[in-house]
Amino acid sequence: MNKRLEEVWSEIVRMNPGESEFHQATKEVLGSLGPVLEKNPEFARLKMLQRMAEPERQIIFRVPWQDDRGEVHINRGYRVEFNSALGPYKGGLRFHPSVTLGVIKFLGFEQIFKNALTGLPIGGGKGGSNFDPKGKSDDEIMRFCQSFITELYRHLGEHTDVPAGDIGVGGREIGYLFGQYKRITNRWEAGTFTGKGLDWGGALVRTEATGYGAVFFIQEMLHAAGEVVEGKTCLVSGSGNVAVFAIEKLEQLGAKTVACSDSDNVLHDPDGIDLELLKELKVDGRERLSAYVERRPTAKLLPAGSIWSIPCDLALPCATQNELNEQDARTLVKNGCIAVSEGANMPSTAEAVAVFQEAGVLFGPGKAANAGGVATSALEMQQNASRDSWSFEYTEKRLSDIMAGIHDTCLETAEEFGSPRDYVLGANIAGFRRVARAMTAYGLV
Ligand code: NDP
Repeated sequence: MNKRLEEVWSEIVRMNPGESEFHQATKEVLGSLGPVLEKNPEFARLKMLQRMAEPERQIIFRVPWQDDRGEVHINRGYRVEFNSALGPYKGGLRFHPSVTLGVIKFLGFEQIFKNALTGLPIGGGKGGSNFDPKGKSDDEIMRFCQSFITELYRHLGEHTDVPAGDIGVGGREIGYLFGQYKRITNRWEAGTFTGKGLDWGGALVRTEATGYGAVFFIQEMLHAAGEVVEGKTCLVSGSGNVAVFAIEKLEQLGAKTVACSDSDNVLHDPDGIDLELLKELKVDGRERLSAYVERRPTAKLLPAGSIWSIPCDLALPCATQNELNEQDARTLVKNGCIAVSEGANMPSTAEAVAVFQEAGVLFGPGKAANAGGVATSALEMQQNASRDSWSFEYTEKRLSDIMAGIHDTCLETAEEFGSPRDYVLGANIAGFRRVARAMTAYGLV
């Protein structure tokens, strides 16, 4: 990072004390932008970086709710409406005890550039709560969601801000959130949420889209390097929405996934994960991975955090931020890993990314590789707006074309700036440039 960018970043750190994930995400993006500021000095003069690092609006609110025994709980809700230069704020809601303002801001900041890369008309936002859905009854989840949206609803709308799911927020939660939104506003405004059920305005492929998209991205990177997915051995961390459907697409393309994880354990199944069993436990049920091993004795459980020590060709971190560190990256490289596609947001630390890039491992950063989810959300909005619904095959083709387009944009931008195959640089510059051009056109906003 050059001295001027260092100064911009120091100011961001000073303005946002204690928000370590946000500092990490902004540093990662600024680290790529030196060449584009040299080429387009007007972006520096207009203080684009400083403006993009400051959310347009941050909403923080109290979420009181009652558990099944009648005890009162208070959680904190967030929605950071980061940037609407390209369209309505768009990004998921995360319910997890680790959620803080800094986590939501890192996710929202990433979302601006990710959404820009899709080429679709969506701005960047993110929200959530430090509420822990684990172990809660359906009724408790419903009461929490109703309380959460009773405050947030006034800030949402299909042309204003459109939430979706993320960690801890799936179809069940979107149902409760949308149901209460509809009740309060007296509007059946399906385009205000994405990730809805198929009977009430949802779109085919949205559930699968992030995981499938991360695999389409690694497929594109491999093709560009004269390689294929077929026959490869893979590791996919996590066992939630993104991980399960990444494993499914890898299997469809002829690769074998030998391990996945949750926050308690790593599941190692050297014969290849039994996808049907995994989906029965994790998509249809809300089981832990330990239940898989009880049903399939050839598999074993390893300690949490050990997934990256299993030899593989392809690695897809699909759980959470900073789950893959420098040492993990060194182990993956030593064991012959040739490509990494980030299904999760910022799962690799900056040091880990440097190890991959130095070793020539193809590295697809989250803001490019996991953009399939939000892209398909934008397709859901498109279907809602036209009161239409598309077939699975058509929507999946749209998704794979969008992922190929993002891949090519990153590759071409990296080449334009003299760093061939640097997908990090390509993604950051291409995303930034699209938003910066729009903001330039709007004047000082
Ligand atoms: P889910 O809640 O469906 O699954 C999350 C998975 O990650 C679970 O297996 C969970 O294990 C594990 N996990 C979560 N937090 C931790 C932690 N602190 N340590 C270890 N494991 C953890 O979420 P998603 O699959 O939707 O999201 C996964 C990642 O993908 C996130 O980074 C999210 O931001 C990103 N993403 C999601 C998109 C989407 O469309 N859903 C779109 C783009 C990115 P456990 O059950 O034990 O908590």
